[in-house]
Amino acid sequence: MRLTDRQIERRDRARQFAADRIAPLAERIDHDQVTPPAVIAAMRTDGYLGAALPPRWGGGGMDPLSYGLATEEIGRACSSVRSLMTVHNMAAQAVLTFGDEDQHERWLPGLGAGERLIAFALSEPACGSATDEIATEAVRRRDVYVLNGTKKWITYGQVADLFLVFARCDDAPIAVVVDARSDGLSIDPIGDLLGVRGSMAAELRFDDVTVAVADQLGPTGSGLTFVANTALDHGRFSVAWGSTGILQGCLDACVSYAQHRRQGGRALVDHQLIRRHLADMLVAHTAARALCHRSAVLREQHDPRAVMETSMAKYFAATAAVRVATDAVHLHGANGCTPDHPVGRYLRDATVAAIVEGTQEIHQLSLAGYALQKPYLR
Ligand SMILES: Cc1cc2nc3c(=O)[nH]c(=O)nc-3n(C[C@H](O)[C@H](O)[C@H](O)COP(=O)(O)OP(=O)(O)OC[C@H]3O[C@@H](n4cnc5c(N)ncnc54)[C@H](O)[C@@H]3O)c2cc1C
Repeated sequence: MRLTDRQIERRDRARQFAADRIAPLAERIDHDQVTPPAVIAAMRTDGYLGAALPPRWGGGGMDPLSYGLATEEIGRACSSVRSLMTVHNMAAQAVLTFGDEDQHERWLPGLGAGERLIAFALSEPACGSATDEIATEAVRRRDVYVLNGTKKWITYGQVADLFLVFARCDDAPIAVVVDARSDGLSIDPIGDLLGVRGSMAAELRFDDVTVAVADQLGPTGSGLTFVANTALDHGRFSVAWGSTGILQGCLDACVSYAQHRRQGGRALVDHQLIRRHLADMLVAHTAARALCHRSAVLREQHDPRAVMETSMAKYFAATAAVRVATDAVHLHGANGCTPDHPVGRYLRDATVAAIVEGTQEIHQLSLAGYALQKPYLR
């Protein structure tokens, strides 16, 4: 895989940033279930919040591969912080793609600079995988919509300034950008998640929240098919690379632990069955990264296969991360079950990565459809 000098520089800068500013706090973020404001500020000043937006809007203008490589490095350090990068960039991408000129002028400078955080609000208590079953209702009254309903599991919902919200208006899906300070909007923290525990998730309750029709993204009816799916495709790309970060972290932790821990008169690494784990981990990471890389290249080329190849990368990388992190905990024995080693956190975070932006089963279903198109013959 050949990277340009610029891509190498961006990857190395992200690696250094993650090692200096995020990794030392990762266990605390997980334990306290809070991302410190200083970490969010560092993500902002170092350009990771608007990383994928064009420089015209204050963003980093990263090409897909640079963005992916940076996500991998941040994901290796801390999946909670990586998920901030994921949701902000995926929702901002939808604003960029579907916003009109006035909406761009109003929202993109703040989003590109990371001065305003935007979260993605699609899921509801009774609606997850079947996104077309959303029940949040938008009633049109002249030039405003009145929203009623509940959104659940909204990553960084506790601190977001804006929400990209999906609702139903006369049965047609719409997407609107809602200010977090809107009257009638209550934001309740969701705690004690299994993984990405520092992602400050929230439940949002809309009680007669009014939103200007001018804050609608895209035409009525396109809310799910176009707006949500564009954001989710971007989110999958990010979660795929974040999962390769978990794989990288597991491999690194296991190589080090196996060299230092001695049992039966020799280092773990000198037991053949332990070496098998290291081999499997290396292959899983290399394969996941290759799929992510391929997806990045297709995205850069605006190739129509990019959507399904991104789904493949996300499905493979997240599934591999769960398997490898399980083995990594085993390889660490009892130590793997404590916060003194990152592998337990990797396992919990990988489990979430395999659920968000489409569960394994949902990706299996759509990838089976893709297989029937015989992409492997092209
Ligand atoms: C930590 C975390 C953060 C999240 N952040 C956000 C966020 O920021 N914004 C947001 O909108 N949502 C968010 N979500 C919600 C997430 O997108 C959903 O959890 C996910 O889409 C799955 O939906 P569900 O949990 O309702 O599971 P369900 O859809 O109820 O699925 C339950 C099980 O049934 C399976 N299943 C469902 N349908 C089918 C089918 N047709 N065929 C076969 N199997 C099926 C699923 O694969 C799964 O195994 C987050 C979730 C978590 C855990």
